[in-house]
Amino acid sequence: MNREELYKLATEARKNSYSPFSGFRVGAALLTAEGRVYTGVNIENSSYGATICAERTAFVKAISEGERSFSAIAVSAGDEEAVPCGICRQFMYEFAPDIEIITCRDGALRRHTLEELLPEGFRLDEKGDLNG
Ligand code: ZN
Repeated sequence: MNREELYKLATEARKNSYSPFSGFRVGAALLTAEGRVYTGVNIENSSYGATICAERTAFVKAISEGERSFSAIAVSAGDEEAVPCGICRQFMYEFAPDIEIITCRDGALRRHTLEELLPEGFRLDEKGDLNG
């Protein structure tokens, strides 16, 4: 799947955003290494801290279905560029430190690496020790 198609799926997913408080509708489309796509949206909550972003929603769906290998994620906020927040960057780093992140600014797709967005990310190994 090319990046334009993945971004289009992220944009289509926005319609299911639950964002009554901010009105900021975000959609994400997560591409696995095997070519499957999981979409996600931001889901706000009256207790603001319980809000979850579109990127993490997509990852939670995929991981809960047994996926562990990811190649790209597109994030769409319509006419505004939505670059993943710090929590999402850290969340993605756990599962996909090499993932490609697709956003859009002024109608042009932008490609980011997670390494660019989260240099020296934090990760424990399976024993709970710091890993690199
Ligand atoms: Zn986020």
